[in-house]
Amino acid sequence: MSEEEIEIIEDDGNEGGQQVDGDGGAGPFEKKQRKKKSSIWDEMTEVVLDNGTVKVKCNHCKELFTKSTTGATSQHKRHLTSCLQRKMAIREQSKQKQQVLSFTEGGSDGITSITNSLFNKFMKAVSPFYKKINRQTVKEDCMSTYTIEKRKLKSLLKGAGRISITTDLWKSGQKIQYMVVTGHFIDSDWVLQKRVLNFCNVPPPHTRVIIADALSKCFIDWGIENKVSSITVDNASYNDVCIRRLREDFSLRKRLMQDGLGQLGGVIDVVREGIKYLNNSESRLLEFAKIKKQFQLPSRKLILDCPTRWYSTYLMLASGLEFKDVFPRYADIDPGFHYVPTDFEWMKVEEVCKFLGIFHEITDMISGSEYPTGNIFLVELYRIKELLNEKALDPFEHIRAMAGTFSVIYGEDVAPKFMAEIRDILYELYNAYVDCHVVSHSEQQRQVIKRRQNEGSTSSSKK
Ligand SMILES: [Zn+2]
Repeated sequence: MSEEEIEIIEDDGNEGGQQVDGDGGAGPFEKKQRKKKSSIWDEMTEVVLDNGTVKVKCNHCKELFTKSTTGATSQHKRHLTSCLQRKMAIREQSKQKQQVLSFTEGGSDGITSITNSLFNKFMKAVSPFYKKINRQTVKEDCMSTYTIEKRKLKSLLKGAGRISITTDLWKSGQKIQYMVVTGHFIDSDWVLQKRVLNFCNVPPPHTRVIIADALSKCFIDWGIENKVSSITVDNASYNDVCIRRLREDFSLRKRLMQDGLGQLGGVIDVVREGIKYLNNSESRLLEFAKIKKQFQLPSRKLILDCPTRWYSTYLMLASGLEFKDVFPRYADIDPGFHYVPTDFEWMKVEEVCKFLGIFHEITDMISGSEYPTGNIFLVELYRIKELLNEKALDPFEHIRAMAGTFSVIYGEDVAPKFMAEIRDILYELYNAYVDCHVVSHSEQQRQVIKRRQNEGSTSSSKK
């Protein structure tokens, strides 16, 4: 059957629905068609043969089907799912869509040209499979690309140790003020990376608070608030105060505490949930107090913390620690109470609380407002430094401690041999590093290192 035998029905009174343009690309002089409800009518058309029979034609393969008198479309749907021409068209369309959308990477000019109706007409003429791309499609495509790229960058940032930030503000042609934040870091393959982390509209006034907040929101969003090593800004006056504010926000002190609390992991949650559970009911608190009395513990209260304030978490743990014997007893009488830390966990809590207690005391002392603090600040800060030195094992100490365990593990006779072996490997590594990175390293200096290495191995064999 040839194409001329078929004419398109332009008005179908039986089907409801609003009046729409029959075809997105149709000219203004063509008659309007009614939209049919079933989704098959996007891909099938009603036709009347010469003999007057009404048929349904697949737009893809032009095959004809009988039209059901009840309006049922299931056989047509079945055809569409298996139509080979349609499958090809879909594959072609998605390929074309990718290629056409790559125009948009060039910016707004690209978007304007592909949503242009002339362009769409041209593409339709070139390829029968072409499907019009509108602004909505372009937008969705941009957003999905953005989401995918963001996820990739987030995992890349996770592997970065320290991140340096550069940021600046400027005005666009439409007088819109933008802030851009760029992160510079070394990835796990030792390659220097530079990525735009934020490009956002920051309306004036550009006070330090607004800028500091925008930056800190950006850092938290990327999960890098604890990794920022430096922030480079221009010499605008608001930047000074802005950076000072940020420094306070992400201060070393806070990080230290969060690290310390991080060591405790799940215990904090257990204690917190336990206290919440008890606080939820007056009778639970009463039972808890009874057991407290049996243990002859002071009538102090359990404290619920505010999770973002390290000292309030410290106070909560310290209060929980006092009642650590009450927790399992209470669990015996209340089957709904599952918040009993193990002895080992309490031990860890005790260790960290001892440490944080001193910090808490010092912070309290130097942030006092009713007495001068300038004279005690340095002394107290030094106390913190000493405390940290005490807790931190320096790397040399670490290796020496390791050497001590060798004789225990392998026996006195074999241990020196292993130790010498490891020492040689370390020197070899060091030399390889020096050879490939320090080109300017003079031969003389290298000899010094070699000599030192030889001395090291002879002294170890003498032992
Ligand atoms: Zn078909």
